[in-house]
Amino acid sequence: MSTDSPLFDRIRISPRGNKAKENAVPTCEFPGCTNPGTYKAPKGRQHEGRYWHFCLTHVREYNAAYNYFEGMTDEAVQAYQKDSLIGHRPTWTMGSSNSKNRKNGSDVPERDWAYSDPLGILKDAQLRAQAAKQPEVKQRVIPGTVRRALETLDLDETADAQTIRVTYKRMVKKFHPDAHGGDRAFEERLREIIKAHAVLKAAGFC
Ligand SMILES: [Zn+2]
Repeated sequence: MSTDSPLFDRIRISPRGNKAKENAVPTCEFPGCTNPGTYKAPKGRQHEGRYWHFCLTHVREYNAAYNYFEGMTDEAVQAYQKDSLIGHRPTWTMGSSNSKNRKNGSDVPERDWAYSDPLGILKDAQLRAQAAKQPEVKQRVIPGTVRRALETLDLDETADAQTIRVTYKRMVKKFHPDAHGGDRAFEERLREIIKAHAVLKAAGFC
């Protein structure tokens, strides 16, 4: 979107009669942004005269998205919103979108945009900002003792419980003195394997 678009010009100008001095610049209201919200964008139908405060980047992004929806039927807009929500939340757990629930590990405050974000533009941006922070939350943490135990069984951290159990049984058989005609040479190895299995079991890995 170019800066000489009519919409951009319109929203750049402060509405008449702003009695409150403009010395206190609000923060950009785009989810996850902390830049000064120097620019205003209309909140849209049924919210005439009300504005979002955005930084230059986000007022452009918002207007671009807003223009994109112009001419769309309400059903088409809703279909788009539904698609984009599903598409942008791969690791999103259902139920954490409750406004009082912030255990998604994000520092982007949950907000109910619906009252003034009929197109879902901001909600969508918020979900993207949160999704970007998700990956590390879901990562399985492997303690050193568990990692070493897995190595003892010739496995790595990708091994699931079933693989661990099967491998353990196979190795116990393989290194048991009975399998070597009573030769106790493999006894130490067998002891390590049994110990490793106990560690994995205690840690809930099998
Ligand atoms: Zn911004």
